[in-house]
Amino acid sequence: MGTNDSSGHPSSSRQRSSVQSLRKRPRAQVLIIGGGINGVGTFRDLALQGVDVALVERGDYCQGASGASSHMIHGGIRYLENGEFRLVQESVVERNRLLRIAPHYVKPLQTTIPIFSTFSGVLSAPLRFLTHKQQGKPKERGAFLIKLGLSMYDFFSRDGGTVPRHQFRGRKRALAELPRLHPGIKYAATYFDASVHNPERLTLDVLQDGEKAGAAGPSDARASNYLSLVSMGGAAGNSSGSTGGSTVQLRDELTGEVFDFTADVIVNTTGAWVDLTNQAMGAASSFMGGTKGSHIVLDHPGLLEACNGREIFFEHTDGRIVLIYPMGDRVLVGTTDVDADMAEDAVCTDAEIDYFFDLIGHVFPDVPVSRDQIVYTFAGVRPLPRHDATQPGFVSRDYRIERGGQHTSAGGAVVLSLVGGKWTTFRALAEHLTNDVLKELGLERKVSTAKLAIGGGAGFPDTASGIEQWIKAHMSAGRDADRISGLLTRYGTRAEEVLRYLDAGPDRLLHSTRELSVRELEFMARNEQVGHVIDVLIRRTSLAFRGLVTGELLNEVAEVLAVPLGWDAAARAAEIHYAQEVLERFHGVQVHSLVA
Ligand SMILES: Cc1cc2nc3c(=O)[nH]c(=O)nc-3n(C[C@H](O)[C@H](O)[C@H](O)COP(=O)(O)OP(=O)(O)OC[C@H]3O[C@@H](n4cnc5c(N)ncnc54)[C@H](O)[C@@H]3O)c2cc1C
Repeated sequence: MGTNDSSGHPSSSRQRSSVQSLRKRPRAQVLIIGGGINGVGTFRDLALQGVDVALVERGDYCQGASGASSHMIHGGIRYLENGEFRLVQESVVERNRLLRIAPHYVKPLQTTIPIFSTFSGVLSAPLRFLTHKQQGKPKERGAFLIKLGLSMYDFFSRDGGTVPRHQFRGRKRALAELPRLHPGIKYAATYFDASVHNPERLTLDVLQDGEKAGAAGPSDARASNYLSLVSMGGAAGNSSGSTGGSTVQLRDELTGEVFDFTADVIVNTTGAWVDLTNQAMGAASSFMGGTKGSHIVLDHPGLLEACNGREIFFEHTDGRIVLIYPMGDRVLVGTTDVDADMAEDAVCTDAEIDYFFDLIGHVFPDVPVSRDQIVYTFAGVRPLPRHDATQPGFVSRDYRIERGGQHTSAGGAVVLSLVGGKWTTFRALAEHLTNDVLKELGLERKVSTAKLAIGGGAGFPDTASGIEQWIKAHMSAGRDADRISGLLTRYGTRAEEVLRYLDAGPDRLLHSTRELSVRELEFMARNEQVGHVIDVLIRRTSLAFRGLVTGELLNEVAEVLAVPLGWDAAARAAEIHYAQEVLERFHGVQVHSLVA
């Protein structure tokens, strides 16, 4: 619960090699629980240091908060107001780094803030710097405060000028650049942040970098999705005697099989579920106080045009931050911030959709929107610290690492729990967490990840003409520029590995989409730990996000995957129904399958 697709799913008797790699040798120096970006980032860093590390994720990688973000890789200008200078500085530095080391997925994002007043928010902001608390009713931020914030932001961004400095425009020029903005604006401030276009695939790239580093190094790095930590394992879940460490019980969520696994250090990166995971290990904690946020994706050419390629970042009169921005040919609108109930599904509600429509009307009053333009919705729970009196929007976005275990019922292992952690800072956070783990193990850091290209970001062309050349160089008989461009967008330069696989046998595009071929689906099934049809639709491709899932596509994907994944007719039908259920329940999408 509290996730985007955690409902019951069909079972299988297939032995997955990812699970086998953990079962065959059920011990590691470090066990990471949770395969969101922070767990996966830490996995990669530890593997690069030659540590024997294992990771388990109970669903698919990036299915928690990491798959529900606003896709911004940003310094978090509004955190300045909370006095979180350390976080903003780290975020800006990391944003600039990710633009360099993951250029295949992280792209510059021009952002405009429409401003309706000159001074609002100025009086309350200094109080917040001191207390980190929201004082009274939130106020819309005025020009003065935004100018101040953006100047500080520029100051933090000064390392090498990866992104241009901010610009302030008066009403006339702002409306010339964005003519459909509300005519009542007084100013518009424009600056650059970044967005991550394919967070699910970036997570997978980070994971695979870790696996590769493990395979090349002296030790090992193993990871499996659909594998949960369920409880302490062994006789009484205690220390495993002379070998040290603790034994926990893992369950294969696809087969139901349960086995024990022992580690010296356990890293709990289960996000909003951190306390529940600690509880399962017999160690009570109350670190977390997650807040839910939702988004809608619109197929709306008018709104797309109104944004003119920019993110419109805006503060509603209730003090909540909202954003409207183009992602390819769709428009993403978000987000809300309400205390989450982890016992309930995180879904975008009707009331949230009304709220989004209201704010679109506030920014672009002459751009009508309707529900039938929504092609996808998603929601997730931010893994924030417990916040008692502080309003959700003003809870610290910084992270910390809590040390526990050893003298608790977690047996002999040290347990490090991650509290917080944004997408933007995942690399730096993984570095901190890895340093803490290395200290526990008495080891030294060998490699820095600060400048290390991630997955298909290595050698990715950095200009439009470079991209064009890359595409031309990889075209062949039967594969046109569109197809190569699609592969480069999906995999970065790892597309070369995919192309080699496609070339090794007869291939054809699917009948239901020109974006996927039979062998590409096989490649995903064999190399990317696909457990379900829904993993392909939501996380291996962006077909669901863009509202492109049809009944025909669902059937065809299930049919093709059935061969490498060993599904019989009943398993295939169950997969189709499960995908339909997830799409409807968590993403507001109804797909009518062609088979019963
Ligand atoms: C609405 C919203 C908008 C956001 N926008 C942004 C943004 O624009 N920019 C930004 O930088 N950040 C943003 N964030 C924050 C960011 O997405 C998260 O902080 C980050 O992704 C957290 O990653 P994580 O790996 O710590 O947690 P998660 O991604 O939640 O991963 C935790 C994982 O643990 C798994 N798990 C749970 N229990 C178990 C178990 N017992 N065994 C095995 N696995 C288990 C879960 O299935 C899950 O996959 C946003 C978050 C939300 C919700």
